[in-house]
Amino acid sequence: MSEKHEVVVLGGGVAGLSAGYVLTRAGIDLVVCEKDTVVGGLSRTIVHDGFRFDLGGHRFFTKDPKLEAFVKDLMGMEFIVAPRSSKIYFKGRYFDYPLKPFNALFGMGFVATVEILTDYVLERVKNGVRKPVIISLEDWVVNRFGRKMFELYFKEYSEKVWGLRCDRISEEWVAQRIKGLSLWVAIKEALHKSKDQKIATLAERFLYPELGIGRIPERLREEIDKVNAVLTDTRVTGVRHNGSRILAVETLGPEGEKVIEAEEFISSIPVTALVKMLQPEAPQEVLEAANSLRYRDTIIVAVMVDRDRVTDLTWIYVPERSIPFGRIHEPKNWSSKMAPPGKTILVTEYFCFEGDETWQSTDHDLAQSAVKHLEGLGFLKKEEVLDTLVVRVKKAYPLLEVGYQESYAKITDYLQGFRNLQIIGRTGMFKYHNMDHAIDTGIKAAENLLGKSHDILKINSSREYLEEVCRK
Ligand SMILES: Cc1cc2nc3c(=O)[nH]c(=O)nc-3n(C[C@H](O)[C@H](O)[C@H](O)COP(=O)(O)OP(=O)(O)OC[C@H]3O[C@@H](n4cnc5c(N)ncnc54)[C@H](O)[C@@H]3O)c2cc1C
Repeated sequence: MSEKHEVVVLGGGVAGLSAGYVLTRAGIDLVVCEKDTVVGGLSRTIVHDGFRFDLGGHRFFTKDPKLEAFVKDLMGMEFIVAPRSSKIYFKGRYFDYPLKPFNALFGMGFVATVEILTDYVLERVKNGVRKPVIISLEDWVVNRFGRKMFELYFKEYSEKVWGLRCDRISEEWVAQRIKGLSLWVAIKEALHKSKDQKIATLAERFLYPELGIGRIPERLREEIDKVNAVLTDTRVTGVRHNGSRILAVETLGPEGEKVIEAEEFISSIPVTALVKMLQPEAPQEVLEAANSLRYRDTIIVAVMVDRDRVTDLTWIYVPERSIPFGRIHEPKNWSSKMAPPGKTILVTEYFCFEGDETWQSTDHDLAQSAVKHLEGLGFLKKEEVLDTLVVRVKKAYPLLEVGYQESYAKITDYLQGFRNLQIIGRTGMFKYHNMDHAIDTGIKAAENLLGKSHDILKINSSREYLEEVCRK
């Protein structure tokens, strides 16, 4: 079977669907191919017996007024404003997240406070003498906060999330995530509350769809479906090309195998998979580069509880190695509609690699482990547990290992040789994009086909992009 459209979008997460939405509104004929039964990818909401949960609790936040307007216009009355109040559970106590200076400085006792301040001053003096070389996450944090602070608050959690030592994790990740933040800025923030909320991690409120984050991709799909088609259960299995243009994709869906030709292609599927699907094959060095890029995976273990509410927090970060999950959230604190009346749900995140010991554990063992540790932390009693659900999420995080840029550049240089292909999104670009960035890449890819000229690879990476967004 074969068919032809103006545009094919690969992947129905928020990036691919945003591209499809903008093009549909502009009257373009297209099709979106999504391998899963539902749209949304990482930004989907699981529904189970009246309980709802995201894959790790997704808050929508952007500094770009245009993006905010785009999403608000799409969601209309479905959006509510949720307060953000997160904590770090560490050595039996709660600390504010993001770290608040008084908590972080004085929370671990007098000796630790003196060490933090001494280390910080030492780091500043060192920086004054010689320009620091910042390659890894460890370099970046030590430079901004001092070594003691790094060891106390950053090391364990980062290693848990990434499964790598902090000197193997690229500084890019932390620099992007808590850009603008340092011990000194954090102290000033606490003493003199900033009015314009310029630092991303310090935002205290966020927009959230009443029925979970998955409503954003569902709404996008609803709009596309009015005119064009979003094909779910349809996996792209091959990408045909002639060396300078993509000609067609091969898909496997409910109706069997199909070839879909188009003039333009927008891909949000993992870039490493895309490269391996090309026919004829990509050059050996590009395939090797694709094999060297890794993603970090995650397992979500949701525990339904026979109680109205357990906490009043947005997220609880759990850095300690002895506890197997790294983060907990209680969706009911995001929207009361996320659980039936009188009941609640705790969602834990286990960071792992596909195929490792955690990944291979049975659902039963994972559920038992989550319940045991939640009970140990004092959040629930075993008898209150109504049900559990385990969801394995592949390719949740692009793993920004020190030196990954070389492989990445080989891949993007090669793909840029295809004049009618744009890569977008988080897994699609191998970039640590949040939803707003992913949506932005989709919108801009669509606009490129409508006569504009955006450099998508710069989104969420160049200093100019960040400055431009902050100025808007
Ligand atoms: C635990 C966790 C928490 C997060 N929290 C937040 C948050 O609070 N706020 C925030 O803004 N962002 C958050 N994010 C990031 C957010 O999830 C992503 O930025 C966003 O969902 C990326 O969308 P995407 O469309 O680029 O990618 P994806 O969601 O990965 O979409 C890609 C799609 O392609 C499909 N696909 C893959 N291969 C094929 C194939 N061969 N054929 C067809 N389809 C295919 C996939 O099924 C998927 O639907 C979080 C991410 C994680 C993992």
